[in-house]
Amino acid sequence: MYERILISGASIAGPALAFWLARYGFRPTVVELAPRLREGGNGVDVRAQAVEVAERMGIMPRIRAAAADVIGMSFVNAADRSVARIDMQAIQRKQAGGEVEIMRGDLAAILYDVTKNDVEYVLGDSIRTLEQADDGVMVCFERGPSRRFDLVIGADGVHSTVRHLTFGPESQFIRYMGHYFAFANADPALGEDRWVTAYNEPGKMAGVYRSGNHAGAKANFIFRRREPLSYDHRDMEQQKRLLSEAFAGVPWQVPELLAGALADPDFYFDALSQVRMPSWSSGRVALVGDAAYCASPVSGAGAMLALTGAYRLAGELSAAAGDHRAAFRRYEEGHRKIVERMQQVGPNVRLVVPKNRIGVWARNTITRSPLLESMAGMERIVSPGRIAPLPDFEAGSPVLAVKGPGPASPQASPSRYRCGSRA
Ligand SMILES: Cc1cc2nc3c(=O)[nH]c(=O)nc-3n(C[C@H](O)[C@H](O)[C@H](O)COP(=O)(O)OP(=O)(O)OC[C@H]3O[C@@H](n4cnc5c(N)ncnc54)[C@H](O)[C@@H]3O)c2cc1C
Repeated sequence: MYERILISGASIAGPALAFWLARYGFRPTVVELAPRLREGGNGVDVRAQAVEVAERMGIMPRIRAAAADVIGMSFVNAADRSVARIDMQAIQRKQAGGEVEIMRGDLAAILYDVTKNDVEYVLGDSIRTLEQADDGVMVCFERGPSRRFDLVIGADGVHSTVRHLTFGPESQFIRYMGHYFAFANADPALGEDRWVTAYNEPGKMAGVYRSGNHAGAKANFIFRRREPLSYDHRDMEQQKRLLSEAFAGVPWQVPELLAGALADPDFYFDALSQVRMPSWSSGRVALVGDAAYCASPVSGAGAMLALTGAYRLAGELSAAAGDHRAAFRRYEEGHRKIVERMQQVGPNVRLVVPKNRIGVWARNTITRSPLLESMAGMERIVSPGRIAPLPDFEAGSPVLAVKGPGPASPQASPSRYRCGSRA
């Protein structure tokens, strides 16, 4: 049997999983490395089957009310004159999928808000070691005391600690996609209201994201780099230096955007990459969201895969009535097809960051032509809406009697359990 479930990561997949686990009567604990909920990021899409999941959670009205309301992308020249525009809202209306773009931080805040009374959140800590036994997992934390859980789920993103501790070094699973990207807060006087304004140099894009729902603005940067850079993904100052070097001397509003990014404590920098794994579970440990199957930020599918994956994983754990191996297997069988489709939809980065000046010209020309309309049709073909409908786990699934966050798990006595060092 399993009841106490530790989830690592409080962004999208973690709280969504905790929501459903609490609904089914389990006792989820979410541990988040950051000392407070992370607010950063631009818009993410709640689309296709994620809309249905959010509706079943009862949060779709809140998501719609908080929608980013961005019309589309406007490509500008160095003099800040618009040279091409993509009206994304018009394309979405053609697809009629009910999708909503929302700031990542707003979605994370909604998910936290609807779980905070039923779920134990531990902020500012991280799993240091995991030791699996037949009857549970002994977890040592970086700061808090060690605790025993029945299952551990990694929802801790592309650089997942749970994945590293359970499956080994991330280099086995991360596929570098030849670019780096960064998000940061920007001066709201820059850019254009309700548009993503973007400036290109060959192999580089700097942009300003202005949501209709927020007074602030977000800077985003992408640059090509054939070989991966070597840096510490937890060292923000080092990452800021790398970004400054990549955009040194780039005109338009880049100097102002860089200045804002360098001063921003919520600065976010990473390689554009995908996570591909042959299996998402091992024993009593499983992965959900970007930790298991990141499709990359340019796919626009991260939040959708996280929400639907969390829904399926919790539902299968409930339906399996204590057989976690069967639950993990069925979660993977049900979710992998959508993941594989979404991981194929990646070439949009070439549209946003053409390699050379001819590419920039071609992109702008295509953007101005009706060809783009047909892209909406193509998107419909690969839409996960054509995949098997979401199962309804609540009909007839065994729900445990336990409700609420419950008391903290009994801590392992230091005399009986000694925490080892991190792998
Ligand atoms: C700050 C931020 C900004 C983002 N901005 C965008 C964006 O603009 N556009 C976009 O498409 N995608 C963005 N993403 C990624 C996007 O959220 C995911 O692709 C998608 O929503 C799936 O979410 P996830 O919960 O699986 O992973 P993530 O959103 O990556 O969340 C992982 C969570 O785990 C936490 N974590 C990491 N390591 C540990 C650890 N050792 N212990 C405990 N917790 C840990 C992280 O702090 C984070 O809260 C952003 C993610 C973050 C964290």
